[in-house]
Amino acid sequence: MIRVRFAPSPTGYFHVGGARTALYNWMLAKQSGGKFVLRIEDTDAERNKEEWVDGICNAMSWLGITWDEGPIRQSSRTQRHVEMALSLIEKGDAYYCDCRREDVEERNKASERTKQGYDGYCRERNLEKSPTTVLRYKVPADGSTTVNDLVRGEVVVANENIDDFVLLKANESPLFVLANVVDDIDMEISHVLRAEEHLPNTPKAVLLFKSFGKEAPLFAHVPVLVNEKRQKLSKRRDRVAVEDFKDKGFLPEAMINYLALLGWSPKDNREFMTLEEMTAEFSIEDVGHSPSFFDEKKMEHFNGVYIRALSDTDFVHLVLPFMEKSNWWEGSDENREKLFRLASITKERVSLLGQAPDLLMPIFAPSIVVDDTLFEKEVSPHSNLISQVAVLCQELDCFDAPSIEAMLRDLSATSEIPLRKLQAPIRVATTGAKAGLPLFELWEHTGRERIIERLIAASQNSNS
Ligand code: GLU
Repeated sequence: MIRVRFAPSPTGYFHVGGARTALYNWMLAKQSGGKFVLRIEDTDAERNKEEWVDGICNAMSWLGITWDEGPIRQSSRTQRHVEMALSLIEKGDAYYCDCRREDVEERNKASERTKQGYDGYCRERNLEKSPTTVLRYKVPADGSTTVNDLVRGEVVVANENIDDFVLLKANESPLFVLANVVDDIDMEISHVLRAEEHLPNTPKAVLLFKSFGKEAPLFAHVPVLVNEKRQKLSKRRDRVAVEDFKDKGFLPEAMINYLALLGWSPKDNREFMTLEEMTAEFSIEDVGHSPSFFDEKKMEHFNGVYIRALSDTDFVHLVLPFMEKSNWWEGSDENREKLFRLASITKERVSLLGQAPDLLMPIFAPSIVVDDTLFEKEVSPHSNLISQVAVLCQELDCFDAPSIEAMLRDLSATSEIPLRKLQAPIRVATTGAKAGLPLFELWEHTGRERIIERLIAASQNSNS
């Protein structure tokens, strides 16, 4: 049975790179009825924060990346890690070492040794445990270690190029590779699919699996994500937190779809796929070697497509939290009903849910604000036309979109001002913006009284 794990260290927010790794693991497990384990690698007490653990779990849940087991805290398993490390001493695969960093550096300098790092000084000293000794792994002097990576192919490293790495610090706290391998053994992980940055440590992991008498899992190291300057995405420089994208109004389905395609594509190269379809077709062997460009604009384009495919009911449900963040929204039944009627024209014009409130503001907010420069440019020169439109609005029998359209078309014909040109000043005067929802519908839903009020105010302000 396929058993995978996603093993984040809670040292920061959950970012798109982590989300893609988690997603690939999830698809790999789900396509064969396997299990997905969530393991929190929280052994670095100084850099870990509890809030990051919550952030990771919440963002994963929002994306729909569910776990079958866990979250398991690596920190709760320290005793087991120590016990396994100590078992290597009897096997002759680990030894205590009391060298200080300065000693090693000095010896390296004095000798002709080209390789830096630890020189194996304590290998045969048979030291006992003391408060200053670390426990090191004894890397075989000869031969080589092979990592069979499903993405990278075969990676062979000569053992002489692998330092005797530390398993336990002097205070007995376990180091990354040890804890990682022991957990993978105990959790019976069959596939380790993770970020490429872990590839250099993998030969050490392979050696440890062998020393523990276990077969190593299959490895797959997925290439990094880069920004538009081809720099590796950095949590600090690039704003790539999944939570931020959620707050902007990305849909999880759109993000999942886009992220899956960063490094993998289905055989026929189609782009829009459901999670189910992607899961059925995903294959690690088809994951590429080269870095993938994380293009937020493209992801936003995906999002627009997903938004337009929503039912009106779902759209209203999803957009309401964004409306509620504004200070002008009143959540009455009447407003919700109106929002529902506006859903189809709004969906067509947004690529993020967070863009909807600005478009809908002129309809729901009691008053609008028009920027001075925009007013001078677009509204002031047309005050006569604007007051004329106000009168025509008053005279209309019914203030609905078709009647408003007919009224403005008539005016355009008699005044010989093209409809487009005629719409510009009255749109700015009644919405505060040069573009937005279709004007006739927008006016109908705003209501005659408010539209006339805004037109009159605009024409008066232009005269003054
Ligand atoms: N804890 C590691 C990280 O967050 C991942 C280790 C692994 O997947 O093996 O980068």
